[in-house]
Amino acid sequence: MQSGSVARLGGDEFALLFPCDDEGQAMTVCQQAVRRISEQFVFGRRRLNLSAAAGVCFAGGESSDLLQLLRRADIALFRAKRTGRGKVKLFSTEMDVNLQRETNIEQALREPGVHHSIDLAYQPIVDLRTQELQSFEALARWRHSELGWIGPGEFIPITERISVIEQISDALLARAAAQANRWPSSVNLSFNLSAAELCSSNTSAKIIRIITEAGLDPRRLHIEVTETAFLADFETARRNMADLRAHGVQIVLDDFGAGFASISYLREMAFDAVKLDGSLVISAGMGVGLPLLTGVLRLCEAVGLPCIAEHVETANHLRMLQSLHCCYGQGYGLARPMGADAAERFARTAPKRIEDLFRLAAA
Ligand code: C2E
Ligand code: CA
Ligand code: CA
Repeated sequence: MQSGSVARLGGDEFALLFPCDDEGQAMTVCQQAVRRISEQFVFGRRRLNLSAAAGVCFAGGESSDLLQLLRRADIALFRAKRTGRGKVKLFSTEMDVNLQRETNIEQALREPGVHHSIDLAYQPIVDLRTQELQSFEALARWRHSELGWIGPGEFIPITERISVIEQISDALLARAAAQANRWPSSVNLSFNLSAAELCSSNTSAKIIRIITEAGLDPRRLHIEVTETAFLADFETARRNMADLRAHGVQIVLDDFGAGFASISYLREMAFDAVKLDGSLVISAGMGVGLPLLTGVLRLCEAVGLPCIAEHVETANHLRMLQSLHCCYGQGYGLARPMGADAAERFARTAPKRIEDLFRLAAA
């Protein structure tokens, strides 16, 4: 490589300017630099371990403005840091657009009273043995006047990162609990709790206070949590879960089969049910994942935990789950998420769509 220049931009940020032929070469140089920095330094009698990340962009053509180049490298660096330690990322226009959207979403989420503009949709969870409605899962829905539709998968992680998840989630839980009071008492409320909340020490007391104020029997609340909470702070998560269960709240392990949740979680943590990740049902429906779905259901049965299958989209899925003795199901084939009024009607009338799907599955 030809020689280049190194400059300190400030703090712990440095810029490296060097000529190169293509992306691959630029990435290799930066990866080598990051690797060298990660090697242990011996400083007197001390051993020092440093780490670095790098963002790469190209000068030339339209993009030779210095400030513009630094901004692009910075965006790529930001992405690299988000990905994990020691990463190198190459700038792309898509990154810029995504970052801009994320920044806009972040600003909108910081607006006081933002929770008023977030709606809740309710998706039925059905008992596959009796066809009865067992619960409604509350799912956040946000349509922003300028940013358009923003899915929960996009904005919930941002609320966690900028620490506004609690205000928003508390307001949504209070609303959902008030709504659940309008359903027959046999219909429960399933509510998603983010990892950040489950790992916050006052969460259980706060949840109990919110539902007590709303007048909802804690035994009707099912809290859905994912394994990420246990990876973050196992002890606090476990304490919150134990407190909630002591009040009668049920705890459901969500997205089981999608990540790394090990069998030991099922044994060590006191869950009341397991929600199988939708991908297990979809791939079993295509034939390829049937042994895996069967195995996971047997495993849950062995530890005495009822299962809820997500993404029940077709009569075929329903038939398969019934034959495997899966207790509960949820998915577009049974019912899509719906607004509060529609959910109230659904809870009071025998839903024809569900009957139809069961009839098809039995045919
Ligand atoms: P999740 O808890 O796994 O929720 C299930 C997701 O699957 C929902 O997406 C639901 O609309 C979708 N779904 C339901 N049936 C089907 C089906 O048959 N096929 C397919 N392909 N999808 C189906 P949604 O509403 O976009 O939510 C995404 C995730 O965002 C949720 O995943 C949950 O983790 C999170 N989330 C949603 N609302 C909240 C909330 O109020 N608080 C927290 N902390 N997280 C939330
Ligand atoms: Ca869920
Ligand atoms: Ca899930």
